[in-house]
Amino acid sequence: MRQEEVLDCLIVGGGAAGLTAAVYLGRYRRRALVLDCGGSRLRKIPRTRNVPGFPDGIEGPELLRRMQEHAGKYGVPTAHTEVQRITKLADGSFRAESAEGAWRARFVLLATGARDVEPEIEGLHDAMLAGQVRYCPVCDGFETQDQRVAVLGRAGHGLRESLFISGFGNEVTWLSMATQEEVGMPELARLREAGVRLADSPPHRIECGVDNCGVRVELQNGQVLAFDTLYPALGLHHACDLATALGARSRPDGQLEVDAHQQTTIAGLYAAGDVAMDLNQISVATGHAAIASTAIHNRL
Ligand SMILES: Cc1cc2nc3c(=O)[nH]c(=O)nc-3n(C[C@H](O)[C@H](O)[C@H](O)COP(=O)(O)OP(=O)(O)OC[C@H]3O[C@@H](n4cnc5c(N)ncnc54)[C@H](O)[C@@H]3O)c2cc1C
Repeated sequence: MRQEEVLDCLIVGGGAAGLTAAVYLGRYRRRALVLDCGGSRLRKIPRTRNVPGFPDGIEGPELLRRMQEHAGKYGVPTAHTEVQRITKLADGSFRAESAEGAWRARFVLLATGARDVEPEIEGLHDAMLAGQVRYCPVCDGFETQDQRVAVLGRAGHGLRESLFISGFGNEVTWLSMATQEEVGMPELARLREAGVRLADSPPHRIECGVDNCGVRVELQNGQVLAFDTLYPALGLHHACDLATALGARSRPDGQLEVDAHQQTTIAGLYAAGDVAMDLNQISVATGHAAIASTAIHNRL
């Protein structure tokens, strides 16, 4: 596609949300382009089991491949590049720039996702593939029934996630990183009621898959604990910078504020998927993208 031609829509991000928008805009016969730098969280999913239509689950990379094939079928190409800046021009259109070039469009859909804050664990990638380290209890808490589960996270996020996971019939320990003092008595009482154990000494070393043990956690006080599964609850970086640099409003956690049609607080700039405020899920990302791309189509 020739650069500086004014497209109908630039889709920044080629994961679940961006590729769904590509399918919709392609089928609306709009001129759209996906700009993507290849870091979709779908690549990290060993097998997702809560996407409708796949009762036996599907591997994340395979789902991504199918979504790419689907978008390509309706003529929306992808340029492999990382967008570094988006500017809004005087006529209301947008210009996106990367090291490889610049593109213009009347609308932009930001589908840049989020990045998990990862703990320091040797062999983290293999542990994720083996299901020993998991990131998303909404997605796969069901798979932890009857297991010994650890949640690594500070007060707030770590505590909420421990309570959430304790609802799956497992044995949960909150590795609080010595932040339990920041938690009020009522919350600690809720933890006790839910049967969640507390390990308050910070982890010194976490190893996975050693000596037939799923996850081995050595605490600073010398205690050693063994688990089947570890959920890091260290937070997410939502990839909102391109939008906030334009003046778009975001929530404290970085998710972009959007209206009922997924438009951000900047006219013509839409957001879908993990970068927009909502639950971080594939079905949510595809739903956002359907709403945003239809709203954009109706405004063109
Ligand atoms: C281990 C794990 C397991 C999960 N399991 C499930 C599950 O079972 N079920 C479920 O529903 N969800 C699951 N999720 C969550 C799911 O992966 C995300 O909710 C989903 O991928 C969000 O889609 P998205 O399009 O918003 O972001 P992504 O799919 O992450 O795509 C964002 C894309 O934008 C690109 N990008 C970012 N910035 C730029 C830029 N400046 N320029 C160009 N491209 C850019 C990224 O490289 C990436 O390709 C899981 C997540 C993880 C990490």
